Amino acid sequence: MSGPIIRVEGLRKSFGEREVLRGIDLEVAAGEVVVVIGPSGCGKSTLLRCLNHLESPTQGRIWLRGELLGLREKDGRLVPRPEAEVDRQRTHIGMVFQRFNLFPHMTALGNIIEAPMRVKGLSRAQAEERGLRLLERVGLLDRKDEYPARLSGGQQQRVAIARALAMEPEVMLFDEATSALDPELADEVLQVMQDLAREGMTMLVVTHEMGFAREVAHRVIIMDAGVVLEQGPPSVIFTRPTQPRTREFLRKVL
Ligand code: ADP
Ligand code: MG
Repeated sequence: MSGPIIRVEGLRKSFGEREVLRGIDLEVAAGEVVVVIGPSGCGKSTLLRCLNHLESPTQGRIWLRGELLGLREKDGRLVPRPEAEVDRQRTHIGMVFQRFNLFPHMTALGNIIEAPMRVKGLSRAQAEERGLRLLERVGLLDRKDEYPARLSGGQQQRVAIARALAMEPEVMLFDEATSALDPELADEVLQVMQDLAREGMTMLVVTHEMGFAREVAHRVIIMDAGVVLEQGPPSVIFTRPTQPRTREFLRKVL
């Protein structure tokens, strides 16, 4: 399709008195890999959660594939979408969190086939065929019958990625997917993310992994205190940022 996969206009989000997102405008094109960095508490997770409608915006609009997220037009006014429609919209977005969030009572394969069967109505055989393909893609075919507790953190996170991919999302959101992992295990997850990017997946990635940002991102967005401070290709952002706050932040993390 033409047009951006994600479009965000004037997004604001408050929790009580506290305004956490203070007017975000953002577009992500098909196949684009956008890395979001910024200090802790600046609103990165809240932004991703709004994109997946885990939080509803206080103000502003989000479109997914040209379709308004969480809202629809009725008699010339915007009204909330029914929950079933929001769920359908969510199926187009895969999300991987810092915590692995696998179902502990299901095997690796069980975790992956659950949603495609329940939400997309795939037969067990169809879901398993897809699940096995995805496990192979993340290098874990031989662990298909293991329960999460018997997998390393890196393996669990790769299963979580496979589980998200099983819904055939059009965009993948990653929220510090490797922050809880030792460097070695983080690397195997970053490798899977890099492969995905190479295959053309549209990705919005919150990460502290500056190596990933440099090598894989098409665009880096610097957030600070609920706004986009500056954005551009990594080659520019990392070598000649224009904003003093960006320089200050990069000095701490590079
Ligand atoms: P980041 O991911 O960049 O570290 P977050 O988006 O998690 O930042 O949080 C931004 C701010 O919003 C923080 O001050 C956090 O405490 C606050 N916040 C996030 N979620 C909630 C919530 N559900 N209720 C109240 N405050 C929240
Ligand atoms: Mg966060």
